[in-house]
Amino acid sequence: MTVVALSGGVGGAKLSLGLYRALPADALQVVVNTGDDFDLLHLRICPDLDTALYTLGDREHREQGWGRRDESWDLMGTLESLGEPMWFKLGDADTALHVLRTHRLRSGIRLTEVIDDVRRQFGIRARILPMTDCTVATRVETDDGELAFQEYFVRRRCEPRVRAIRFEGAATAHTTAEVLAALDAPELEAIVLCPSNPYLSIDPLLAVPDLRAALEKRRVPLIAVSPLIGNTAVKGPTAKIMAELGVASSATAIAAHYAGLIDALVIDTIDAQHAAHLPIPAFATQTLMRTLDDRVRLAEFVLARARELGR
Ligand code: GDP
Repeated sequence: MTVVALSGGVGGAKLSLGLYRALPADALQVVVNTGDDFDLLHLRICPDLDTALYTLGDREHREQGWGRRDESWDLMGTLESLGEPMWFKLGDADTALHVLRTHRLRSGIRLTEVIDDVRRQFGIRARILPMTDCTVATRVETDDGELAFQEYFVRRRCEPRVRAIRFEGAATAHTTAEVLAALDAPELEAIVLCPSNPYLSIDPLLAVPDLRAALEKRRVPLIAVSPLIGNTAVKGPTAKIMAELGVASSATAIAAHYAGLIDALVIDTIDAQHAAHLPIPAFATQTLMRTLDDRVRLAEFVLARARELGR
C-alpha cells in the first residue's frame, strides 16, 4: 500500500516525516510545491523541495525552521564582504545543492531526476516529486505592487498586504509522469494534503491543470490536515493572508477553500466546535507537531481516518 502526500515547505515536511516514519519506508511519495522556486546569483533554488530533502534526510535545522543544521556560512560572508547584498541566506552546504542542481538542470536533466538522485544520496526511501518540471512562479499582488514570491516572503517578510496571488506559467504547465503514476497506482491507499499554507503552498499544485484533474479523478480518499490551530497559523502568514483576502481564518474556511476536492479534514481539538458545521467529515485531534512523536502520532491518526473513509 502506498500514500501520496501533497506538501509545501516546513508545515508539509513535518507531517511528511511523520508519514515516512509511520509507513513502510518506500510506501510514501511526496508531491512538493515548486511555485517558490527562483534564481539567485544564477543558481536555481527550490526551497520547498530542499526542506523535504533535509527533513526526510535528517539534515534539517529544527529550531530555525529552514536550511540545514551544522551549516557554515563562509560563502555568504565572503559575498557580503565583496559588497553583494545577501537578503536570502545561503549556507555553504545548502549552496552546494543549488550549484549541483543548476549544473544538472543546465545539462538537460529534469528537476524530477535531479531531486530523485539527491534523495537517494541522502538515504531517503520515500520519493520526493516536484509538482512539475515546468517553470511555475508564484506572484503576490500587494498594496506595494506585484512581488515575486521570495521578494514578498523573505525580503519583505510577508509585510505587504496581499490582494491576490497568481501562479505564472501554471495554466500551461503539466505535471510529471512520475506524479501521474503515483496518483494512479493500483496500490495507492490515500492522498494526504499536508498542513501547508493553502494559498502559497498548495494552490500552486492545484493550479497545474493535469495535476488537479488527476486529484479529482482519484480512486482513494483525499484527507487534509488544517494548518490552523485555534484559528491561527502555527507559523507564517496563512492567517494574515486569509484576513487580507477577507476570509475569516478558521477550519470552516480551510474546508471551504478545498471544497469539491477533499473528502475529510483533520482539525485540532481546540477547533472541534467547527466539526458540526463542515460539509465534509472532520476529525479532531492534537495537530501541533513539536516532536517527532507528535508527527508520527498525527500521521497514524490521518492514515487510520483515511483507511476508514476508504472502506
Ligand atoms: P512554508 O512553505 O515553509 O511556509 O511551509 P508550509 O506552507 O508547508 O507550512 C506553513 C503552514 O504550516 C502554516 O500555515 C502553519 O500554520 C502550518 N504548520 C506548521 N507547523 C504546524 C503544526 O505543527 N501543526 C499544524 N496543524 N500546522 C502547522
